[in-house]
Order: sequence, then structure tokens, then C-alpha cells
Amino acid sequence: MKDELIRIFGAVEQDVGQHARDRTENAERMPSFVVTADRTDQVPELLRLAHERRVPVTPKVTGQNIGGLAIPAEGGIVLCLHRLKALEIDEAHGVAWIEPGVSWQELKDAAHRKGWTLGFPLAPPDASVLACALMDGLNTMSLSHGSFGDWILSLEAYLADGTKVVTGSAAMSGRPLSRGPLPDLTGLFVNWMGTTGVVTRVGFALWPLRAHRRRDMIPCRSLEEGFALMRTGARTGLYDDLAGLSWPAAKWALGLDELGPRDPHEPELYLIADYAADTREELDLKTRRLTELSPVPPLPVSDLTQLAPDLAPFAELPARLDFLLDHPGGGLTWIGTYGPMDKLEEGGRAGSKMLEAEGYPPLMVTRPMKGGHMGVLRFIERFDRNSEAETSKVRALNVAVGAMLMDLGYVPYKCPAVLYEDLYRRLDPGFLTLMQRVRDAVDPHGILNPDRWRRP
Ligand SMILES: Cc1cc2nc3c(=O)[nH]c(=O)nc-3n(C[C@H](O)[C@H](O)[C@H](O)COP(=O)(O)OP(=O)(O)OC[C@H]3O[C@@H](n4cnc5c(N)ncnc54)[C@H](O)[C@@H]3O)c2cc1C
Repeated sequence: MKDELIRIFGAVEQDVGQHARDRTENAERMPSFVVTADRTDQVPELLRLAHERRVPVTPKVTGQNIGGLAIPAEGGIVLCLHRLKALEIDEAHGVAWIEPGVSWQELKDAAHRKGWTLGFPLAPPDASVLACALMDGLNTMSLSHGSFGDWILSLEAYLADGTKVVTGSAAMSGRPLSRGPLPDLTGLFVNWMGTTGVVTRVGFALWPLRAHRRRDMIPCRSLEEGFALMRTGARTGLYDDLAGLSWPAAKWALGLDELGPRDPHEPELYLIADYAADTREELDLKTRRLTELSPVPPLPVSDLTQLAPDLAPFAELPARLDFLLDHPGGGLTWIGTYGPMDKLEEGGRAGSKMLEAEGYPPLMVTRPMKGGHMGVLRFIERFDRNSEAETSKVRALNVAVGAMLMDLGYVPYKCPAVLYEDLYRRLDPGFLTLMQRVRDAVDPHGILNPDRWRRP
């Protein structure tokens, strides 16, 4: 196997151990080989070899998904795709045709040069746009344009036996402009976490770069006040994003490590409103409407950063949130879900209490998505990942938070393995049967990222 891999890739990585785990509480698994693709044609060659020899393959870009999703199958091959960086922008239609290694910062820079833009996760600037889109991530334009899965217009992938597939309009014209009107085979690769094929390009929707843009912060006294504003603001159709971050984020960002209990006069949720316009008048109108709806006047984040430069990462995305990544324990994990807007209060309160009861600051991200058809609740813990006791504690907490949210109708996104047992019990049996049949059809030997979506 090693000789074959060297023939295809020129080398195999010596330090396979660094791919066995990530920042989360998920169990580590040691791969046998790690290879890095420099050219797309190496992908089907590897898959044909792995298929023939029944060896698992886990595609990976930077492994920053915070769900254990790129931890490989024991003894398998990690296929690193970070060097595949081709990027073309169809300027007339606002579509980027990108390979897996294209990062948030790279796509932003290229898109802005052509008069287009995109929304951003709170993820580091070097993480993969393609992988986040395949996992249906959330971003600063999710209120106006939905989660990232919706932004994929066509894609190119390789099945387990090396067969090449192109989906969407690109299947006929080579131009990735739409999912339909052909049968939507693009969906066969979205949210499947590399279990149906290795995707080598996606056609990714961009949006016009407007002349005027604002990011405003609105401190809300309570979660309830913030959720109410998210709901009324979503209905106006004026804003790209109305995201809420709970109070620990602001204090951590300001460099306070010992947070203590929240001061009763301190805001509980900080809402960040993102919006843009072609003219100054149009922007002012949106600001006026937001001011009418808000409990206190919105403050431009750029003004706040002049008072408190530590808040700079919130002013311009993508940015690296050091307070989540560089704390002494090193561990980071979360349970994120998409679900009903009418249960935000119940879920937000219950999740915050659960984190506090276990001694974690109640760090939460929330936002309305897709015009307000659904909302996000995501609970985040920093922890010491070298302590077994804390790792077990955080795992049990994530399972409990996941169960509470699923009871309220929230569906986990980037679903970590710790939730499979509970989730599978709740899923429609026909859905599970079809999922397995699809998987058997496209990957009969089960080599593609076999630990993801594994039935407990
Ligand atoms: C501090 C922090 C904050 C974040 N905030 C957000 C946020 O607000 N919103 C959000 O959506 N995300 C957020 N993320 C997650 C992150 O942005 C995305 O998950 C990331 O962009 C995906 O890129 P990656 O390089 O980490 O992918 P990886 O972790 O390498 O891969 C992710 C998954 O996709 C599979 N995969 C990778 N490449 C392929 C391929 N070519 N074909 C098929 N399957 C593939 C992998 O096997 C794995 O299952 C955050 C991350 C961090 C660290």
C-alpha cells in the first residue's frame, strides 16, 4: 500500500499521529497513512486503490469542524486536500467554482476584486469554504440567503470506485449556475460528511458587494429581549444577519478569563446586525428601522473597536477568535442545531442553565436563518482536553444538551458521533433505510469516511 501511495502522491506523511484527534472530546483514531493531493486526478486514483483493497478513506482539509468529523477511521487513509486551491469566478453570474483548499480569506479577497462578496462563519480565515458548504454551515448572510448548503449550485465529485460525477446545471453545460432543473443529485453530497464521495469542486453562490455596509451591535438585557428582536428584524427582510452571542463571548474577547457569574446589569445577549446598501440613503433607512425595533440604539462595531481594540475580530470577518482557540486547556466543542424560531426562549434558557450547572460559562450563538423560517441554537464549551475527567464531563453534557434541543425540534448540524444514538432513535425509519441504500449504492464496500453517519 505504501509503495502504491508513494507512486500516486510522491510521498506519505511521516507524522500520522497529528491526524488522530482534533480539539474536541471525540475519541482519537490512528490512521495508517496520510497523503496530500496536489492534483485532482490523484483523488480517483487513490479511491480506486482503496476500493479494491477495502481501506477506509477520510477526506480532510484543515480539520477545524469542531465535531470530530475529520477524525479518520482506525487504520485508514487520510486524504488531505488543502493544496487544491483552484478558484474561478464567473463575474457575470456571481458564482465561484472552487476546489477544497480555497479558504475564507482567499475567496473573500478574490470575490471582492470582482465586485462580489459572501457571508462568513466565525471560523479561522484558513478553514475550507467547500467543506463548510458541504456541511451546511451558518454565516453572516444566513438570514438573507440561508445556510451554506443552499449556496452550492453544482459540484464535481468522485465516488468510492473513482467514478467522476458532475451535478446541477454543470452536469450539462459545465457552468455551475443552478441545482435544478435536473434531479437534484447535488444533495447526495451535502451533509453526508464525505460518506458518498470526495467532492473536488463546488459552484458556490456569491452576492453583490454593496457600496455601503454596517455591522451594528445591540446589547440586549435578556435572551428573551434578543430573541424578540431577531424575530421582528427577520420579518423586515432588510438585514443579512441578526446574530446573537451571549455575554461570555464579549468578556472572553476582552481578555477576562475568570468570568464569574453575570452581573445582573450586564447585557445577556449581544446582537450583531449585518446589512448593506447601494446608496447612503438606503443604508440610513435600514439603520433607522433597526433603531426603532431595538431596545437601545445600535452601535457600529467599528466605533466600539476604537474604545476596545480587543473586539476587532468582531468588526471584520473572517477572523481568528483567539479566545476560543488559545486558552490553556486547548479543548473546544459545541452542539449546534437548526430548528424552530418559536422555541428559542425555551432552548436558550435550558441550554444556558445546563452549561452553568456543569461549571461552564453559558456561551451561545443564535441567529434567525433563511428569512426566519428557522433559527440556530449552538452551545459552546472550552475545556481541558488533556484531562480525561473533563473530556468525559463535556461529552455527557453535549449528549444532554443535544437531547434537550432535539426534544424541542432542533436538528443537529455537523452532527458529532456522540449524538448518533439519540438522533437515530428519533429519525423516520424510511429515511434511515433510504440513507443506507444510497450509501450501499455509491460505496458498496463502505470505504468512504465509514465512522460518519454510522448506525449505532
Ligand atoms: C473558532 C471556530 C468557529 C467556527 N464558527 C463557525 C460558524 O460560525 N459557522 C460554521 O458553519 N462553521 C464554523 N466553524 C467550523 C468551520 O468553519 C468549518 O467547519 C470549516 O470551514 C470546514 O473546513 P475544515 O477545513 O475545517 O474542514 P474539515 O474539518 O477538514 O472537514 C469537515 C468534514 O467534511 C469532510 N470533507 C472535507 N473535505 C471533503 C471533500 N472534499 N469531499 C467530501 N467531504 C469532505 C471531512 O471528512 C469532514 O467530515 C468554526 C470553527 C472554529 C474553529
